[in-house]
Amino acid sequence: MEPIQLVDLKNQYLKIKDEVDKAVIDVMDSCAFINGPEVKGFQKDLENYLDVKHVIPCANGTDALQIALMAAGVKAGDEVITPSFTYVATCEVVALLGAKPVFVDVYPDTFNINIEDLESKVTDKTKAIIPVHLYGQCANMEGVMEVANKHNLTVIEDTAQGIGADYTFKNGDTKKAGTIGHIGCTSFFPSKNLGCYGDGGAIFTNDDDLANELRMISNHGQSRRYYHDQVGVNSRLDSIQAAILRIKLKHLDEYNKARNEAASFYTETFSKTDKIVPPFVADFSTHVYHQYTVKLKGVDRAKLQDYLQEQGVPSNIYYPLPNHKQKAFEHNGTDAVLPVTEQLGTEVLSLPIHTELTNEQLNHITKSILDFINQ
Ligand SMILES: *Cc1c(COP(=O)(O)O)cnc(C)c1O
Repeated sequence: MEPIQLVDLKNQYLKIKDEVDKAVIDVMDSCAFINGPEVKGFQKDLENYLDVKHVIPCANGTDALQIALMAAGVKAGDEVITPSFTYVATCEVVALLGAKPVFVDVYPDTFNINIEDLESKVTDKTKAIIPVHLYGQCANMEGVMEVANKHNLTVIEDTAQGIGADYTFKNGDTKKAGTIGHIGCTSFFPSKNLGCYGDGGAIFTNDDDLANELRMISNHGQSRRYYHDQVGVNSRLDSIQAAILRIKLKHLDEYNKARNEAASFYTETFSKTDKIVPPFVADFSTHVYHQYTVKLKGVDRAKLQDYLQEQGVPSNIYYPLPNHKQKAFEHNGTDAVLPVTEQLGTEVLSLPIHTELTNEQLNHITKSILDFINQ
């Protein structure tokens, strides 16, 4: 059996190696390293895939979020509501702009933003909401949009973990994650569901004015060359990454299907024990399993992780310390009381999930877990 990894980028690469290598060499030959035709091509491909009017590629997912907040007009003193149970980047960019991240709790089953708690935390200073499609499943976007519309707030979806997921509205319409709010942000960090071979990110919107703002801010606030209407940033996706992403985008649905197959295997196996609660999938969303994250009930998590390590099974905790408890946000609302988030921090465990898991590996992982639990 091949060694098990949390994410297997090597075997995924080997399957598309010829095509990728050629595309990279072609960019080198062209020397169009910045804003070359591949970047424009990828932008169009992603617009088509997501069925969204504008994609603005940028340097990484954290930049995408920061640029989105700047385009939404978030300034020092404003408040931005985000879940605490997310990767630090979601909250970091809010604080970086001098605004205050206001942390809300999540639902214990989907791990996503709690709509009642969200509504209770809206104040006169609130400018935006950042729902996160954590682990690959959409947050309750109809709930989020209802609160946002009522209070005139900008919704910035953090879909770094949810690219490719479908959201189904009550009327039966479906949209891709990241295209429901005013702005969507994603990351192409190598381990993401659509990952490049370095850093990359993108911002999406259906709004022409916002698209202009986003483009301008990500390019030094430049309206035309050497004329700067506002203070912006320098955030670009390079042509080599774009060329790789064009190839990988063609495989994204198949990649997400492979992740779903591994997830189904896990979930079916764990139905044999009540000590492991498998991920719950809400009926309004598909799941693209950026992570396969279970909740442990009455299991010593540290001991289980040690045992799994001995069996050659890596596992990880996303995220051990919620953001409202992080030192970095000490002056920014650590007074928040978020019981579900705090409880989840002690219970969650993420198992290996990627596009290359074999049945042999899956059997070994599940057997190791059940052996430990039933010993
Ligand atoms: C990965 C990630 C980001 C940041 O993306 P980078 O490309 O690493 O900057 C933001 N939010 C979430 C939820 C993420 O998982």
